[in-house]
Amino acid sequence: MGARADRWRAALILTVTRRCNLRCAYCPTVKDGVPDLSADDARRAIDLFRARYGGGDIKLFGGEPLLRPDIVEAVLTHVSDVSDVSVYLSTNGTRFEPAILDLLRAHPRVTLTLSIDGAARDHDGLRRPLPGEAPSFAAIERWLPELLGLPRFVVTQTIAPSTAARAAANFRSLRAMGIGRFNLLPGYYLPWSATQLAALEQSFSAIAADFEAAWNAGERLYLRNLFVSAPTPFFNTGFVVDADRTIHPSNLVLAEAVGPRTVVGTLDDPPSAEALAEAAARVPALLAEVYTPDVLASTAAVDRVLTRLCDRLYPAYFRARTARGTAAARVSGAA
Ligand code: SF4
Repeated sequence: MGARADRWRAALILTVTRRCNLRCAYCPTVKDGVPDLSADDARRAIDLFRARYGGGDIKLFGGEPLLRPDIVEAVLTHVSDVSDVSVYLSTNGTRFEPAILDLLRAHPRVTLTLSIDGAARDHDGLRRPLPGEAPSFAAIERWLPELLGLPRFVVTQTIAPSTAARAAANFRSLRAMGIGRFNLLPGYYLPWSATQLAALEQSFSAIAADFEAAWNAGERLYLRNLFVSAPTPFFNTGFVVDADRTIHPSNLVLAEAVGPRTVVGTLDDPPSAEALAEAAARVPALLAEVYTPDVLASTAAVDRVLTRLCDRLYPAYFRARTARGTAAARVSGAA
């Protein structure tokens, strides 16, 4: 396979809130000055999305969506009896509490994606809390045993230019914590030096070797990057409803540099599918307008490093999958 797997599904991206209790070094999201989404509007957006696309992926983003657990709960309850959507909840892991764990257990089809940057030193160094907030690594460690028991739990390992040289060490420290389902996210739309890009390449090569060794040993180790692709690196394309009820073709709207320039409608006056598709087609030109050439070149380079990692891993992944299928067939044949 020559490129990352193409698994296109219609996607509704709900910005539950722009607010966040962290100020991560690489975060482009404008956090203040926008009201939170209401539960009614979240339900309305879902109904509109399902009527228009017949279902697909619903992604709950922020800011930090678990600052509004009531809205997350309203969404999960609203779709609990429908089979045409898959729900993904992204979180920084600082707002877990027993009621939220109970909610997730009650909705086992939800995929929980938790962002961790690696060992405490790098994680807390990059994911800076607002004054009065505790460092987030300790909060994640506190809840990890219960999170590992959820049926669909994935860790997004974010890799900043400054931590690229330690990305493999950070990956191993996350594995040592019992994590076996990963999504690797190198920092997009940031300037990367040639040294940092070389460090990322080297780290990804070491991570690839770890995956190959694990799969050869029959271990289940999951890498979400093998199964998704996006037309715009980092930003999600789809039917994007911002916290202020405006509709966009991409969550680029979150980035300070872009602001409201991607608005194509509101929940009261939604765009046609054609208008949304036309607006999505304009996104690359908009990116070229708001980011400097070196940042765009870095982004393309980082994406190529990630693509090379995936291309290297596909043969080992398919071999391991075939071996597992053969072993399962042997067991059922013997039964
Ligand atoms: S947790 Fe997410 S939204 Fe909050 S600052 Fe970090 S990257 Fe941005």
